[in-house]
Amino acid sequence: MSAIGDQLLYVKGRISQACIRFGRNEKNVHLVAVSKTHSAAKVREAFAAGQKEFAENYVQEGTDKIVELEDIRKKIIWHFIGPVQSNKTRFIAESFDWVQSVDRFKIAQRLSDQRPRDMADLNICLQVNISGESTKSGVSPSEALLTCLDIAELPNMTLRGLMAIPEPGASLQSIKNFHKLFIEIQQHLKRHQFKNKFDTLSIGMSDDLDRAIEGGSTMVRIGTAIFGPREPELVEEDSEEKE
Ligand SMILES: *Cc1c(COP(=O)(O)O)cnc(C)c1O
Repeated sequence: MSAIGDQLLYVKGRISQACIRFGRNEKNVHLVAVSKTHSAAKVREAFAAGQKEFAENYVQEGTDKIVELEDIRKKIIWHFIGPVQSNKTRFIAESFDWVQSVDRFKIAQRLSDQRPRDMADLNICLQVNISGESTKSGVSPSEALLTCLDIAELPNMTLRGLMAIPEPGASLQSIKNFHKLFIEIQQHLKRHQFKNKFDTLSIGMSDDLDRAIEGGSTMVRIGTAIFGPREPELVEEDSEEKE
C-alpha cells in the first residue's frame, strides 16, 4: 500500500472510531480529500487507493488538475471549496461537481446561469461564517435561511447543505449550533415542498475531525492528514472584477 493509501486508511479509521464513539452512522459521514497544492500524481495515488471525492481551493490549480486527470474524470467527484470570485464562476461552473463555498446569492446565480446545460446539476453548499470572524467569508447564521430559500429556486443546481470553516479550536457548542441551524433550514425547505435533497453539513478538517463528527458533520474535508503538509498556500493573482 502506498504512503497516501496508508494515510487514507488511518483517516478512515479515525472517522469510524469517532462514529462509534458518538453514535453516528458511518454511512452519513463522507470523506472528501483536499488536494490543494498537491500534484495530480498524488490525487491519482489516492484514487488508486479507493478515494473518489477530492476538493480544490484555487480555480486555476483545480481546473488544471481536472484536465490532467481527464481519463478518470467520470469516476471522481470534484468539490470547489475556496473563495469564489465572481469573475471566476464560469470556470468553476464548467469544471466542478460541487461548490461548497457559495457565500452570497449573486455567486449562486452566476453559477446557475453558467452551468453548461449538458452537465448534471451543480451541487451547492452555502458557506456560513459560524465564528463571526470578519476575515472569513460566508453569510451570517441569521441570513442563512433566506439565502437558502433564494438559492433553492435556481435552475441547473441542487442546494445540498451548509459548509463552515470554524476558527481553530472552535467549541463543540459552536458546531452543535451550526447543526441546529442546518436542521431548521432542512425542515423549513421540507415544509415548502422543496424536492431536492438538503443532506450535507460540511464541517471538519484534519485537526477537528472528531469534534465535527460529534457535533453532527456529514462531510469532513481532510487535506494534511492524507497528503501531508502543504507548500505555502497560493494566492489567486487577480482580484475581484468590478461590476
Ligand atoms: C485546506 C482546507 C481544508 C483541509 O484542511 P486540513 O487541515 O489540511 O485538513 C478543508 N477545508 C477548507 C475550506 C480548506 O481550505
